[in-house]
Amino acid sequence: MKILPLVIAPDPFLKKVSLPVVEINSEVQQFMKDMINTMYYEGGIGLASVQVGVLKRILVMDVDYEVDPNHHHHDHESFNGVHVQNTNPQFFINPEIEESSSINSSFNEGCLSFPGARAEVVRPESIKLKYLDFDGNEQLKIFNGISATCIQHEIDHLNGITFVDRISPLKREVILKKIKKRK
Ligand SMILES: [Zn+2]
Repeated sequence: MKILPLVIAPDPFLKKVSLPVVEINSEVQQFMKDMINTMYYEGGIGLASVQVGVLKRILVMDVDYEVDPNHHHHDHESFNGVHVQNTNPQFFINPEIEESSSINSSFNEGCLSFPGARAEVVRPESIKLKYLDFDGNEQLKIFNGISATCIQHEIDHLNGITFVDRISPLKREVILKKIKKRK
């Protein structure tokens, strides 16, 4: 199993725009598996391909899984020593938001590319999303709550936008200073 290295802020690579996937083949599918494994390993709920250094319009998400710190269960999957259970991996290729609700919600977001940082971000509470799934089938689905928040956060990544671009400049400065200190 491959754990992919993360691109960490303020790396300018995170500002690049990702390109549409033209063919969904076994190589792309293996990459998506590596992405979700990396996400479980790092403890995130979503990951965009730019965050592992690849400019493709691919997202992975799982808002349902649990980390098992005690390793007592036998039905879990292990990702290089990180044990998770009740996984519900979701894969989104070339995702496009067709509609957004006028009602907003605020969520305390984090990001694997901004280790340790969190900030309240306001986004539409629900979205209608068009995308291709793992097998390349076209899907049109409505997502609410944390799933909607996560997908919007990840689609921002595909467009070179990170969550700190959606908060006040002052809060952004504080987060970026902390990140630089960690390096
Ligand atoms: Zn992120």
